[in-house]
Parts: sequence; C-alpha cells; structure tokens
Amino acid sequence: MIVGGGFGGLYAARRLARHPVRVTVVDRRNHHLFQPLLYQVATAGLSPADIASPLRSILRDARNVAVLLAEAERVDLTGRRILLEDGELAYDALILATGASHSYFGHDDWELLAPGLKTLEDALEIRRRVLLAYEAAERCVDGAERRALLTFVVIGGGPTGVELSGALAEIARQSMARDFRVIDPSQARIVLLEGGPRVLPAFAEALSAKAAAALSRSGVEVRTGATVTNITSDAVWVGGDQIRCRTVLWAAGVEASPLARSLGVPLDRAGRVPVEPDLSVPGHPDVFVIGDLGTFIHQTGAPLPGVAPVAMQQGRLAADNAWRRVSGTPTRPFHYRDKGQMATIGRAAAVAQIGPLRLSGGIAWLAWLFVHILYLIEFRNRFVVLVNWAWAYRHLQARRTAHHAAMASRTPHPRRRPLTRTRFNRLPRRRRMAEKGPAARRRPTAAREAYSLYVERAAEGANEADGPLSASCRGGGLRRVGAPSGSCPSWSSGNRRRR
Ligand SMILES: Cc1cc2nc3c(=O)[nH]c(=O)nc-3n(C[C@H](O)[C@H](O)[C@H](O)COP(=O)(O)OP(=O)(O)OC[C@H]3O[C@@H](n4cnc5c(N)ncnc54)[C@H](O)[C@@H]3O)c2cc1C
Repeated sequence: MIVGGGFGGLYAARRLARHPVRVTVVDRRNHHLFQPLLYQVATAGLSPADIASPLRSILRDARNVAVLLAEAERVDLTGRRILLEDGELAYDALILATGASHSYFGHDDWELLAPGLKTLEDALEIRRRVLLAYEAAERCVDGAERRALLTFVVIGGGPTGVELSGALAEIARQSMARDFRVIDPSQARIVLLEGGPRVLPAFAEALSAKAAAALSRSGVEVRTGATVTNITSDAVWVGGDQIRCRTVLWAAGVEASPLARSLGVPLDRAGRVPVEPDLSVPGHPDVFVIGDLGTFIHQTGAPLPGVAPVAMQQGRLAADNAWRRVSGTPTRPFHYRDKGQMATIGRAAAVAQIGPLRLSGGIAWLAWLFVHILYLIEFRNRFVVLVNWAWAYRHLQARRTAHHAAMASRTPHPRRRPLTRTRFNRLPRRRRMAEKGPAARRRPTAAREAYSLYVERAAEGANEADGPLSASCRGGGLRRVGAPSGSCPSWSSGNRRRR
C-alpha cells in the first residue's frame, strides 16, 4: 500500500511494478503534480494541465498497480490498516508519502490573507488574486488604493519565494507591460520579505547574493532580516513598518501532512517522522515514511532537504525494502546522492549549485530548464512546456532587443540618416516600437490622471445630463455617447492601430 502519489509515492509505485506484489496507490487527488513548476501556473506562465498528469495514465502499464482516489485519515499500525473517510484498507507493507503543507507559525488566521503555494488550487487562487489586483487597479480612482492594489508582497526568501517574486516582476515589467490603458503595470511594486539575513539560505552565500542582485535588477524590492509581525486585509507589518498592499503570498514555512500525527510516534518540530536508516518507522519495520513527510538524519547528522530528488530516491529504496520485508530478506540503508539545487529568477536567469560547481545567469537557467523538462512526468507535458517556454523566451528577447534598440536610438549615431515620417512609416512594426521607446508606449501620467478623474466623476454620476458612457474613446477610454471625441481624455501617443 502506498499513500500519496507525489514524487515519493509515484517512484515507489513504479519500482514495485517490477516485483510480484499487488500494489495500491491511494491519493486524495487523481493526478501527480509537478510542484517545482507550480509558481508558473500561479503567475499565468503555464496552465494547470501542463504540470499535472493523471496517476492512472502514468501507471497504466503497471498491471499490478491499482490507483484509488481517497483521503487517508488515520493509520492503524496495530491493525495494519488505513482508515479512510468512507472505509478502510488493509496492508502487508505500507509506504507513507503524503508530503507537507504550509505552516503559518501559529498564525493560522493568515492563511486566508496570504495563500501558500502547494496545490493546483493554491496556484489558481494566487493567479486569480494577482490578475484581479491589476484589473481592480485599472478601475480604481483612488491613488493610494491603486498603489496598494499594485503592491505584491511575497513572504519567504527560499526557492519558492524567489521564483514567485521573480515571475511577478516579469509579468509586471514584460508580459503585461502594454496591456492596460490607465495603469502602468511596470510600476507595480513587488516586495520579497525574508526573515533571515539572506535569500536562498540553503545555497552558497555568493549565489544568494547573485540571486538578490538579479531580483533587484528585475525590479523586486528584496528585504532581508524582515520578520512579518502581522498581516491584515490591506497591509503587511514588519515590526512598526507598514506595507500597504492587497496581495500577499506565503512562501515561508512547511509542516508535514497531519497523517503523521496518527502514527503515535515521536515527531520533529515540523511534524515529520524521524525514520530509521532503512526509512522504516521506529518499531514498525513494515511501515516506511518517505519524502517531505519524513526526516532522515543518518547521513550527515542534519535532516535531508525537502526536495523532489530526496523523495524520488527514497521512493525507490522504500519500494525495494518493502519487497525485501515481504520476501524475508534484510532491508538496506538509504544513502542520498545529492545532485545539487537550483532556483530560477524570472526567465533566463537562475542560480545552480551542483557539487562544487556554482552557476548563475543564463547558463544556470539552461541547466534549470533541462532538469525540469527532464523530470516532467509525461512526454506531452515536456513537449508543451518546452514549446511554451521557447515561445515566451523568444518574445522576451524580442522585447529586450526592442528596449535596447530604443535606448541606443536615443544617442544619435553620427552617420545615421534623419528618420523622416515617410521612412518611419515604412519601418517594420518592431523597429517603429523600438524607435519610440518604452516611454512612448506608456500613457503619459497627466492623461492617466485625467482619465481617472473622468471615471471618478462618471462613477459619481456627476453630469447625468451628458448621457451614458461609451467605450468608444481613442485608446480605449470612455466618453459620453454623442459627445465630441475631444471631450474625453485621449493619449498623446495617438492611434494604437496606426502604431
Ligand atoms: C511550490 C513548490 C516548489 C518546489 N520546487 C522544488 C524544486 O524546484 N526542486 C525540488 O527538488 N523540490 C521542489 N519542491 C519540493 C518538492 O516538490 C517536494 O519535496 C516533493 O514534492 C516531496 O515529495 P513527496 O512525495 O514527499 O510529497 P508530494 O509530492 O507533496 O506528494 C504528496 C501526495 O500525497 C497526497 N496526499 C496528501 N495527504 C493525503 C492523504 N491524507 N490521503 C491521500 N493522499 C494524500 C497529495 O495529494 C500528494 O499527491 C517544491 C515544492 C513546492 C510546494
């Protein structure tokens, strides 16, 4: 019996498929989730189906493996059974791999205000909050409230926090930079709060520093030594310092799945089960605990990190040991082969620590991309994600090229022919954008303010006699139906279609 079809459970099931045993995989979800790419779903870079694969289809060819959709509520070690909400299942050998969830360090009331990222539902909720914040800001007429709507606070400077804030900066500065008419998404404030002295504390100090510098370059405000003391619906407090914001994301703490508590064995501070060298539960040689649910200290004296390779390698060994137990042969101790760690900072930047090797920038990102594509479970997902990233990367580069060209075009080249209107109109669209520069693409602040005031007045119904509102204004603004086109604020950068 395997409870949990995440990295640990799935690798255990695949391994047991080789042995002459009957295997049941129980999971409360019908899919295996590739959690390392969850932040991309949360920031609208990938869609949920790209990182989730049905457990049944993954294990279709393993004829001795059955998959059951059920939530395990308790383990009865004496009775050798799993208690479900609506029944029970008996086992000869058990592998528990139910992972971990967020920990709010005793502030459970923060959960609603600052969702964590662990499941697809979490990712979709975060995506919803982020995108709705921009939409609300576009319609908001109060300057302070609009700034709060455009402030995103990520709590926790580990890999998830770094990846989330990097991706938020990227959607603000690149993906959505030109999609709004009133607000300028590139002015969004993204704050990463880390209680410790540096981000990515599990990485070498030099890589942490590089990651912090890369985040700052991409527009993230990195604050270390910043312990959050309170979260309310419109602010995050760091001691006496208030950060007004409407979107707070939690990437700070983890806690083992509550199933561990039902075992009745001593647990560590994070609720994980300390296991024997062969991954079994002390005093229960037929029960193995793997991945984020367990803590293994026999190799270095310190717990192994809660990462996918640990869960996968433990899954394989626990499967072999479970087989050894039922076939009456001695079990073997676990030994973790550390393949290194990586974290990405937006598109085209990452840090990687592989043995003595320290990588950063584009090369680390390529390594990160290769590893993540490799470990995605199904071929379809690998293909879709690769195409998606290649497309997004190409567009990112095109925008960067345009941006650099725009910067360059501000310094006149001595041999450059003057750009007449006729020559300008003949240029390809991308060159025309480059010539104008990013500032020209943005609406001037005065026009934006005028538009806000106009919406405000309209919302108050200030001049009913002027007639209903229409969305026919140049640049997508609002004006009174029947009013002359000059009566609504329009953007000085002119007709979008012509551009
Ligand atoms: C956002 C995020 C990003 C990450 N990025 C990386 C990364 O870049 N690299 C890396 O190596 N690691 C990363 N990790 C960590 C990695 O995903 C975990 O270490 C790994 O998933 C642990 O595997 P597991 O099998 O122990 O648990 P999980 O993969 O979490 O699987 C647990 C399974 O158990 C099921 N389950 C839980 N409770 C029950 C129950 N009561 N009954 C039935 N089923 C249950 C769940 O539905 C789930 O399918 C990341 C984690 C997160 C959350």
